[in-house]
Amino acid sequence: MTAGEKAADSEHPDAADLPLLLVIDDDRFFQAQVTALLQERYRIHQRFNAVDDLSEVLAMADTVMLDLNMPGVDGVSFITELAALEHPPKLLIVSGCDSTVLELARQTALLQGLRRTGVLRKPLTRQKLLEATRSLDELSADPTFIGAPVGVVFTESDVIDAARAGELAILYQPQICLDTREVTGVEALVRWDHPSLGRLSPAMFIEAIEASEHAEEFTLAIAKQALLDMVRLAEAGVFHGRISVNVPPKVLESASFTDHLMALITAAQFPPERFQCEVTERGIENPSPAVSATLARLRMRGIQLAIDDFGIGQSGLSKLKSQAFDELKIDQSFIKDLANSAGSRSIVESVVHLANLVGIRVIAEGIENRGTLEVSASIGVPHAQGYHFARPMNVADLDAWLFSWQAKQLLDGPGGVT
Ligand code: C2E
Ligand code: MG
Ligand code: MG
Repeated sequence: MTAGEKAADSEHPDAADLPLLLVIDDDRFFQAQVTALLQERYRIHQRFNAVDDLSEVLAMADTVMLDLNMPGVDGVSFITELAALEHPPKLLIVSGCDSTVLELARQTALLQGLRRTGVLRKPLTRQKLLEATRSLDELSADPTFIGAPVGVVFTESDVIDAARAGELAILYQPQICLDTREVTGVEALVRWDHPSLGRLSPAMFIEAIEASEHAEEFTLAIAKQALLDMVRLAEAGVFHGRISVNVPPKVLESASFTDHLMALITAAQFPPERFQCEVTERGIENPSPAVSATLARLRMRGIQLAIDDFGIGQSGLSKLKSQAFDELKIDQSFIKDLANSAGSRSIVESVVHLANLVGIRVIAEGIENRGTLEVSASIGVPHAQGYHFARPMNVADLDAWLFSWQAKQLLDGPGGVT
């Protein structure tokens, strides 16, 4: 530790019991702000650079707050060092750069296996800091959260074996109408309950299966389970909304997919108009005749179609013109920085406006906090999905969540978004 650096634990009587927060930032004013705001919750250790050997303090750290832009230090290399630790701490990347740079740094950390990574954009405000640390806390408490074991690569047959062995779990995330606060739909999101590694995120295995010849079987297995769960919730009288299932582009190339899906929907006696296929914008940028044919068949059967992750592909607004889609899901990268980025705000406003003109439903993905929700509502975003309302959960938890959500709406009365 060099002169001027200190562990701020001496300033708090019960500091020894608190988790250790290592703040690496050459900005002394920032260090002072963080200490003032967080010393009740953390034992704070300050470092003004990442040049010295930090291994001792890193071994004890619960969370590292890292400034990307310190003189003489490459913040990105430091992220790689953190990822190599046996038990990496949570990471909060801090920078005064624009949100694109922060998002790239976050992606870099995630790709290296640092799943518990958040970002914080300077200048600091009390609310931003508290929200960022709270979302990191939630991440580690989230039972569905999975750290990616570095170097493990799954093949399509691993995944299909898992599906056949009943190791796939489906979680559901609610979608809310901001006007009525009604839960209009839920999205099915898959997890793999791996026998030795624990619960795995789709990021670890979905690519292997999506591009394979088993993609259709996999998608139909998800659809079948989701239909069973939705029928049970409808019979219990708790949910009569839409179920959305993610369908990879490869599956849309299959001439038999629509018939197979319809067979499941019919067997479940489920109304087709309550079933929605989510197709990523990237997957339909240049649709082949086979893909266009499947989209047409699905629509003819009354199944709903949504464009997922809208905004990050190249198709632009031209897809709206075709009117093949019922719903457009604005990608979370635009939603996350709505409150701070005039650019994102203008994009979202224009998309909402145009989608309204052509009669397509719009939903914002990635509503993580009240601030983002309020900005979204103020610019007319009609539907929302995100951690602020609920994380993806299993069907039993969804049942309980729907019950308490409905009870809360009754108590709160009509109107407003919370
Ligand atoms: P997606 O379809 O865009 O799903 C939304 C993702 O955003 C989900 O991640 C969800 O947990 C996450 N999310 C929801 N709200 C928030 C929020 O407020 N903040 C943040 N940071 N994230 C939020 P998940 O479950 O990890 O799924 C990732 C992607 O994997 C999905 O993106 C989808 O493309 C793919 N996927 C998931 N399940 C399936 C599946 O059954 N089949 C296929 N083909 N792909 C799937
Ligand atoms: Mg989706
Ligand atoms: Mg999406």
